[in-house]
Amino acid sequence: MGVRGRFAPTPSGRMHLGNLLAALLAWLDVRSSGGELVLRIEDLDTQRTSPEFARQLMDDLRWLGLDWDEGGLEPDYMQSCRTVYYEKAFQTLEAKGLIYPCYCTRSERMAASAPHRDDGAVVYDGKCFYLTIGERIKLERSGRRPAWRVRCPDLLVSMEDGNCGPYGENLARDCGDFIVRRSDGVFAYQLAVVVDDALMGVNHVVRGRDLLCSAPRQVWLHQVLGYEPPKFFHTPLLLAADGRRLAKRDRDLDMGTLRRRYTAQELTGLLAFYAGLLERPEKVTAKELVSQFSWAKVPKNDVVVCLS
Ligand code: GLU
Repeated sequence: MGVRGRFAPTPSGRMHLGNLLAALLAWLDVRSSGGELVLRIEDLDTQRTSPEFARQLMDDLRWLGLDWDEGGLEPDYMQSCRTVYYEKAFQTLEAKGLIYPCYCTRSERMAASAPHRDDGAVVYDGKCFYLTIGERIKLERSGRRPAWRVRCPDLLVSMEDGNCGPYGENLARDCGDFIVRRSDGVFAYQLAVVVDDALMGVNHVVRGRDLLCSAPRQVWLHQVLGYEPPKFFHTPLLLAADGRRLAKRDRDLDMGTLRRRYTAQELTGLLAFYAGLLERPEKVTAKELVSQFSWAKVPKNDVVVCLS
């Protein structure tokens, strides 16, 4: 089977330079191998996302010359409309005895958890796994609504990232039991992304390196649910000159400003330079980059950008 990639943005704001780099690399990965690209709208959290941002995002991608073969603002490709599939996977995990309710509040979780991981998340100590039925009932009666966690095994999950090389985590020790459904009923990213990648036939996942630490638990979830895990390629993050990661709140580098400041070819050239595909930033179209694209050229580490 050929390469089937995806770009899976969360429409919670305008894209920034870092999102664009991941989008360009996901597009090049697919176009350089004659594959297909799916655009999935990750709007699980309907409070934080909007179709308006999704429309804007699609317009920004097209402006940059990045197209897709399937997806966009169609129910089949919007996570907010795919609950039925997540529910089914949740039931499968439940039937395997891997799901348990967690009544901890955020502050309790922080207090009772093992050391922070590199990504700032805490490793949950599994406290609620050991609750008796009686204790659960008592908590329910006191008005607590549980989130739902999946029980992680003491297992080293190793993978070979197509850009960053070997990476592995012991799920119980480095990751801990993680939430697959929030207390308000919304399914969590980790479950939804696995179900969607599997059901959409995605076999190449290209995305920012901030998600590298999610890959082992996603590989494991794929396996537990009976799917073939995709191949992962994690792309360099862009850092501001002071070492801070670019984020959506940095309005200075969002697509609104970038489109006013650069032409599409200038911006593509800049991204291609950060991606190691050009020796210096110069005008280029995304299409012109296809023939020379290779993961071997893409940096493994974060890239500092200096945009005055
Ligand atoms: N929706 C996530 C984001 O916008 C990306 C998830 C993924 O690529 O797995 O950051």
